[in-house]
Amino acid sequence: HNETTISITVVGASGDLARKKIFPALFALFYEDWLPEHFTVFGYARSKLTDEELRNMISGTLTCRIDKSENCGDKMEQFLQRCFYHSGQYNSEDDFAELDKKLKLKEEGRKPNRLFYLSIPPNVFVDVVRCASRHASSPTGWTRVIVEKPFGRDSDSSAELTRCLKQYLSEDQIFRIDHYLGKELVENLSVLRFSNLVFEPLWSRQYIRNVQLIFSEDFGTEGRGGYFDSYGIIRDIMQNHLLQILALFAMETPVSLDAEDIRNEKVKVLRSMRKLQLDDVVIGQYKGHTKGGKSFPGYTDDPTVPKNSLTPTFAAAALFIDNVRWDGVPFLMKAGKALHTRRAEIRVQFRHVPGNLYKRTFGTDLDKTTNELVIRVQPNEAIYLKINNKIPGLSMRLDRSNLNLLYSSRYPIEIPDAYERLLLDAIEGERRLFIRSDELDAAWAIFTPVLKELDTDKVAPELYPYGSRGPVGAHYLAAKYNVRWGDIGDEN
Ligand code: NAP
Repeated sequence: HNETTISITVVGASGDLARKKIFPALFALFYEDWLPEHFTVFGYARSKLTDEELRNMISGTLTCRIDKSENCGDKMEQFLQRCFYHSGQYNSEDDFAELDKKLKLKEEGRKPNRLFYLSIPPNVFVDVVRCASRHASSPTGWTRVIVEKPFGRDSDSSAELTRCLKQYLSEDQIFRIDHYLGKELVENLSVLRFSNLVFEPLWSRQYIRNVQLIFSEDFGTEGRGGYFDSYGIIRDIMQNHLLQILALFAMETPVSLDAEDIRNEKVKVLRSMRKLQLDDVVIGQYKGHTKGGKSFPGYTDDPTVPKNSLTPTFAAAALFIDNVRWDGVPFLMKAGKALHTRRAEIRVQFRHVPGNLYKRTFGTDLDKTTNELVIRVQPNEAIYLKINNKIPGLSMRLDRSNLNLLYSSRYPIEIPDAYERLLLDAIEGERRLFIRSDELDAAWAIFTPVLKELDTDKVAPELYPYGSRGPVGAHYLAAKYNVRWGDIGDEN
């Protein structure tokens, strides 16, 4: 046979991420005809399941796009028939050798490519990679491994993980996933910047006053605080998701759209960044709160969290890029759980108009009159630009209006989940949206010193009520750099 086939093994198939994201994304790709003609999906975990039990477990989470639901049931059945399960230990070379036999059977003599998705806790990453690379890698095709965060917890542990993985894999076999990079509006950032004339010329310290990267969740850890407690919000959200967005936002124009060209530019931005200073960080932790007769638990009320935990569930930080383009421009990050809203967005505040003719019409608060570009990554994807506009009528009155691109009105289609994009890219060998190891090192270098200080000094987080806007310290931090958070009072 000259034909190729792909075997996708989801390691940790019994888990939450596999059920909620990976299998549904694989099905969506199958449904939309993105998967190669010959493919097999294997679930691997310690839990004892039959093929049928795996199929029952995942069938409940598969969905068809609302706009294209014909044949949905048939397609699901066809997909499920290509899903199999193998129970084994994560550190058993024999169990992976058994898996290899099963994979071979399904591959039916075609040239096999093999993709392993590690959806397991980090303490078993290296075991699995060792066993899989020794006993279940493709003899003639490619073998790739998708790894989920956390990639270590600081510079040293991350470098150690990379070193261990590279004993068995080469860099181009490792696909470090940051699912924010698979989000539609994050991917669109480069399109917005580099294919429109009107943004890129403004994209520098000359016109941009500050950039804000905001992530908020309106729920807490809700009984799943165990993993979170040993990491905290800075490691969980800022060092990866928000920093990745920042790098794409701030990078220089890449030579081409090739993965290496883009990743080279991202590394340059990250390496130009100042190490984050303790003075430029505010941390918070949510506490219990009663609202409208309903009570919401505090972080340390979570039974999976130690009572005396100092882990931040909120953080705000001011970061700086010491290069020609961005010198002196504050990049403010804010990330938190149990806040008043669920949202991820990028806000760009532009400078004041020099010699503004309409200064008097505005009164004294000129900050409120500057243009602001908002890229709302989720939910309700949108890009809007705040401008000043004349209120129609005979008198000269101005107001703030939005040039508004609301995705749901402009594109009445369902936006694919980030995992669909990323799985497809891994299958196709497109590395643009995955994190290279030098990028990861540069990202940890920015945050590691302050994370160490927070730990050794046992810095106590400022408590904030569940469902609030977070600690007031975040406002003082912004004020220190003459910045106002743009999300306050803007519920557009
Ligand atoms: P999970 O449900 O806790 O774990 C996945 C599977 O790993 C479990 O079904 C279990 O399978 C096995 N497992 C659990 N604890 C283990 C332990 N201590 N030692 C060995 N095996 C263990 O995790 P998940 O939520 O699916 O997430 C998978 C990975 O993705 C994790 O590394 C997580 O950090 C990362 N991640 C998750 C999310 C998310 O939304 N859930 C988001 C980003 C990243 P068996 O007992 O059957 O072997």
